[in-house]
Amino acid sequence: MELTNYCTGCGLRRTEISDSCPNCGYAFSSPYRAEDISPKSFGTAVALCGVFGLAGIHHFYLGNILHGIFDLALLIAALFLMDSYDKMLALLGGLLLLIDFCHTGAVMYLLFTGKTVDGRGRLVVYPGQLQ
Ligand SMILES: [Zn+2]
Repeated sequence: MELTNYCTGCGLRRTEISDSCPNCGYAFSSPYRAEDISPKSFGTAVALCGVFGLAGIHHFYLGNILHGIFDLALLIAALFLMDSYDKMLALLGGLLLLIDFCHTGAVMYLLFTGKTVDGRGRLVVYPGQLQ
């Protein structure tokens, strides 16, 4: 599918995700503009999430740097605490790891349902999502 940033009917620059042109009423073939779609690869994002998901590497790939740092810190804190001799701290570490697991699963779910956005707010689409 061809995505355009300009209206085919009147040439006006499209400023938002919309089914039709607010100026001339032209019905777009897709509500998304080319600039709404992330150039990042869905396959790469899924692979990174699957292999390094707990460390948040896929967030760095997609440009969500702060989110990546948070995930990485969560994993490091979890592993550090789990290594503790204090049973309560070790338990807390396990809990953090469990949270990281659930978070990674949720991120994977969002990827496969086409609801993930990159660091610049552009949608990461799965193959065939826009057809
Ligand atoms: Zn128009």
